[in-house]
Amino acid sequence: MPVVTRSPMVLELTAPLECVVPAIAVQGLVREFTRKKKPLVRALRGLDLSVPAGEVHGLLGPNGAGKTTLVKILSTILLPSAGHAAICGHDVVRSSHEVRRLTGVVMGGERGLYTRLTARQNLEFWGAVQKVPRKVLRARTDQLLHRLGLESKADARVETYSRGMKQRLHLARGLIGDARVLFLDEPTMGMDPVAAREFRTLISELRAERRTILLATHDMAEAESLCDRVSFVRDGVIVATRSPLAVAELVSAGHGLELGGAGEALLTELTGLPGVMSVVPAENSIRVLVRSQEDFAGLLRFAADRGITSLRTLRPTLEDVYVRLMGDRGLVI
Ligand code: ADP
Ligand code: MG
Repeated sequence: MPVVTRSPMVLELTAPLECVVPAIAVQGLVREFTRKKKPLVRALRGLDLSVPAGEVHGLLGPNGAGKTTLVKILSTILLPSAGHAAICGHDVVRSSHEVRRLTGVVMGGERGLYTRLTARQNLEFWGAVQKVPRKVLRARTDQLLHRLGLESKADARVETYSRGMKQRLHLARGLIGDARVLFLDEPTMGMDPVAAREFRTLISELRAERRTILLATHDMAEAESLCDRVSFVRDGVIVATRSPLAVAELVSAGHGLELGGAGEALLTELTGLPGVMSVVPAENSIRVLVRSQEDFAGLLRFAADRGITSLRTLRPTLEDVYVRLMGDRGLVI
């Protein structure tokens, strides 16, 4: 795999450097899906979000939480059912042309690339779609290919590329219009660790250029290493927005224990124990997260009293953090 060359070169900017209003402003966004003879799906249920210009903002949430739906609405691929969303003050429905000029979108996987064309042809095609003037497009294509370490294979068909190279080309595609606001939807999904690390370096560089980035992921470590703030999405709404530091503290503070064979009957009692932060029933077991060593000792005594001998210590998971945040709802947002 070629090493990505880190170039200090800053891409030529055509759009204003900063938005005075929030780069992303979302109010009461709703999106419903209706399908023949199937129940209505409410993917977004009145979601609010405000991201200032220059921020890298993470969207963390399990599959089905509504992250992709939000990204699609913000990048004008999908229309909302109700509510408002604006990019740098431009409404995504009424001013979709402006929004398209300001934004770039990178979806994980291989969608959106023409594999029988070369990398250069792909970028020139997408640039033309975004109405980048021909001369600017040629220069920007060269810069991006160089910057993303794709120069040596620029004129080879994309079908001959490794997965990591395709994903870097995806990012280049998202940047060909010189996006001030970039939406990255699970960009490192399926990447090998080396490629993912290179990719994260690139994202840090984009941040240094004061671009605004919305990064949807279910990878907590990725969000922690890249984001200024993260929002937790669940069932189509944001349940909390925090700095990664606050999330890290939340995660490292807890001591987790899985009680094997524990039935639902114990749920209420467990919730009432001192220092309990979350109680999550799993298949034929219950996962409990407590605050301190002392609370942990108390939990062990409780398990022994109830004759539970199948115990496993746990690192708190994203779900534990969710449950904890849901408990805090409305306190720290
Ligand atoms: P995420 O990206 O967080 O995994 P999505 O935005 O893809 O979540 O999906 C949110 C919900 O909307 C899910 O329940 C999903 O099944 C549903 N959904 C998404 N797209 C469609 C669609 N085109 N038709 C019907 N349901 C959809
Ligand atoms: Mg998704």
